Amino acid sequence: MSTPPLWRETNINLKLEGKKCKSCGYVSYPEYHKICVKCGTVDQWETVKLAKTGSVMTYIIQHYLPAAFETPLPLAIVDLDPPGGRVYGMLTETKPEEMKVGLRVEVDFREIYYDRGLGIHSIKFKPIRE
Ligand SMILES: [Zn+2]
Repeated sequence: MSTPPLWRETNINLKLEGKKCKSCGYVSYPEYHKICVKCGTVDQWETVKLAKTGSVMTYIIQHYLPAAFETPLPLAIVDLDPPGGRVYGMLTETKPEEMKVGLRVEVDFREIYYDRGLGIHSIKFKPIRE
C-alpha cells in the first residue's frame, strides 16, 4: 500500500520546493530527472524554495470536463518568479474573460477533486488582485 498522495508530495505541494541545476540555474518542478534537460549536467541539483507568485505564460479555457469539475475552467502554464520554474495548473476564483498572457497570479493550495471519498489536493493559481 502506498502513502497518500498529499503526504508523499508534501515537499512539492505544501513547501513548494523545486530542484535547481547547479550548473545552469534551470529550475525543475514538480518533478526532475537525473539529467538537466537544459544543459545535460548529471545529478547536480539543489533544493530551492519556489516563489508563490508568477505570470501566465499561456492558457486555455476548458468547457468540457468530468462532472467533478466546475466549467468553464481556465488552465494555465505559469512562469514562477525567481528562482523560477514553469508550472501547469488550474485557476480558481477566475473568470474566463480575466485570462490573458502575463496575468499576475499567486499559488493557492486547494482541493482539486474527490476520488473514492478522498479530497485530492494540489496547487492552483488565482489572480493577484490589489
Ligand atoms: Zn542545467
